[in-house]
Amino acid sequence: MRAPSDSVDLSNLWMPFTANRQFKAHPRLLAGAQGMYYTTADGRRILDGTAGLWCVNAGHARPEIIEAITRQASHLDYAPSFQIGHEDSFRAASRIAALMPDGLDRIFFTNSGSESVDTALKIALAYHRARGEGQRTRLIGRERGYHGVGFGGISVGGISPNRKTFSGVLLPGVDHLPHTHAPEHNAWSRGQPAWGAHLADELERIIALHDASTIAAVIVEPLAGSTGVLVPPVGYLERLREITARHGILLIFDEVITAFGRLGAATASGRFGVTPDMITMAKGISNAAIPAGAVAVLRGIHDAILDASGSGIEFFHGYTYSAHPMATAAILAAQDIYEREGLFQRAEALSAPFEEAAHALRGRRHVIDVRNLGLVAGVELAPREGAPGARAAEVFARCFDRGVLVRYTGDTLAFSPPLVIDESQIAELFGTVAEVLDEID
Ligand code: PMP
Repeated sequence: MRAPSDSVDLSNLWMPFTANRQFKAHPRLLAGAQGMYYTTADGRRILDGTAGLWCVNAGHARPEIIEAITRQASHLDYAPSFQIGHEDSFRAASRIAALMPDGLDRIFFTNSGSESVDTALKIALAYHRARGEGQRTRLIGRERGYHGVGFGGISVGGISPNRKTFSGVLLPGVDHLPHTHAPEHNAWSRGQPAWGAHLADELERIIALHDASTIAAVIVEPLAGSTGVLVPPVGYLERLREITARHGILLIFDEVITAFGRLGAATASGRFGVTPDMITMAKGISNAAIPAGAVAVLRGIHDAILDASGSGIEFFHGYTYSAHPMATAAILAAQDIYEREGLFQRAEALSAPFEEAAHALRGRRHVIDVRNLGLVAGVELAPREGAPGARAAEVFARCFDRGVLVRYTGDTLAFSPPLVIDESQIAELFGTVAEVLDEID
């Protein structure tokens, strides 16, 4: 444990997605992490109710991962990712392919969710062009969708503060489906809400407006996390799949938070039994010990691009750090842990007590909705008049002071603990929130 240091100057760092001036007035600094807990710079233990940012699925500081990264760092610190490979990159690709739905067994490595999304969108366009359908350039996202912060991701994303500064230069030809959250119909849902599958039919309307022959891909998060835990209605994803397939439009599932056990299965696609054409992932792929991401691509898409391109480079895209040796070491070690400890099954087994604990907040002051699936829950609070988000922000701050990390987005508290959480920690997590809700205005 480190004592808080007077020598840290907080002025140079421009923090992402942060009220920087407020942070500097009241900094929250972490200094260590182990298992289910963070340690703050002033030596307090914080229960991690969010797996960092939905990413530390096996818990913090797993020795197997540290060892794998350390070994790789001294062995092969870096290998060029173009034209030259290293064995672990192929091993890691095979390992990820084995977890994907049937057919999605071509893996393109990236370093983040944002890169995975932009990669998948480019693959979609490249695929149609390779098949002589280069006019299919339109993309369809969804309101309240979060797909990272690249220009592609914010264009298909549906969060206005992330987009509006750049509205003049977003990708052209993007439409948005309506989101699926309608409190009058699906509040307090446990697991998938019964209401809302018909919202997928909006896709038919958008297709009719533009003609299917102009549309390349639809991208959605199978369960939207960052915008307040929106669980897909029963039958909704199936309907998106049916419509896109009928019109030759690719379907991309952004599984940056849902892949690797969050919903009690390797992927949301597997959990819901709906197979898209591509899956984007990051976060849990490496247990977040090293930045890493990937796109799993249907073999036929990959083959079409390769077949159309003759003998040269097939796809002009890639990152200096695609399949970085330390990332692939972390990926392989993380996947070993998930498998050995049966963490995806553990998440499934814990989802019932987790659901009970989340829904026990129903009836508390300020709580207007609870929704959940697997080891994700959202607890929505009534906004304070004239100060949207302020109440949830206060809950976050008070929980942190009491040693529990939760996340908030707007007025929704989001819970997504490491899959190694136990039942007493689940009780502590939601119990602390209950106490805090009782004491705030
Ligand atoms: N897509 C989804 C669904 C996400 O939740 C996130 C991150 N929360 C991203 C993309 C972007 O990932 P990154 O921050 O690693 O770029």
